[in-house]
Amino acid sequence: MIRAENLRHVYKSSAGNKVALDGVNFLIEAGEFVAIIGTNGSGKSTLAKHFNALLLPTSGKIFVDGLDTSQEENLWRVRENVGMVFQNPDSEIVAAIVEDDVAFGLENLGIEPKKIRERVDLALDAVNMTDYKKFAPSKLSGGQKQRIAIAGVIAMQTKIIVFDEPTAMLDPQGRREILDMVKRLHAQGKTIIYITHFMEEAATAQRVFVMEGGKIIRNGTPREIFTNVKEMKRLGFNVPVAAELAERLRRKGFKLPPKILTAEELAAALGIRKE
Ligand code: ADP
Ligand code: MG
Repeated sequence: MIRAENLRHVYKSSAGNKVALDGVNFLIEAGEFVAIIGTNGSGKSTLAKHFNALLLPTSGKIFVDGLDTSQEENLWRVRENVGMVFQNPDSEIVAAIVEDDVAFGLENLGIEPKKIRERVDLALDAVNMTDYKKFAPSKLSGGQKQRIAIAGVIAMQTKIIVFDEPTAMLDPQGRREILDMVKRLHAQGKTIIYITHFMEEAATAQRVFVMEGGKIIRNGTPREIFTNVKEMKRLGFNVPVAAELAERLRRKGFKLPPKILTAEELAAALGIRKE
């Protein structure tokens, strides 16, 4: 379980202070899949870095499995619990060969070499990158690099994985592959925090946090969040295409059930069947 209590983060610099998190509260249960959306600068990445104590609260607290991240003695246990995957795969690659890159975090944990090799092989298999084991990461596509980064996290066997816009730099095919992987990890019992600006991706989570100005301004199921089309537009967000289309049809006077979120639901409401 992860709990944030009145979490605040202020970046201090000579140019002045910037309040990036302004009283954030939430509870995330073990095994949940939570998506976080929000406009640029709303504080998503700052929040992401609080899950594994890359940043510490200016005030307020965040507890990861009951561990207060701001207590120095908890740092290792927090980091063992939380893996991170960031937006830019290039900035995550640390080694010159794929398998060494995946092993990097494990070597720092002092695990014996045989165990490391086993875990690396399993992790590469899980992201379908076994054939690239001996490759130079620089030779890989963005999507493949991102899969290597995910393999690194899988190898660490953390219970929680935080993804900060992992698909932002990928093509649609690469995005689908990463999202499929995320869903698989969730199905295996991992707690997933998934930051994205793709609403269709957020709609596949169990819960969505909407951030604005350093606060979580909405917290609900994708259906609660995204079928409120008018409000989401007012807040400056798109909604999944099916929800949008259903709303447009309703506005034109077509009778449709409320709260349509997916293409399947819209098709069913329109009485269209697959061939
Ligand atoms: P998001 O990921 O939602 O785009 P960020 O968490 O990156 O938002 O940033 C939140 C706010 O904090 C923004 O106004 C951003 O300019 C500011 N910010 C982010 N990182 C720093 C930093 N290292 N120093 C000062 N201000 C920062
Ligand atoms: Mg960000």
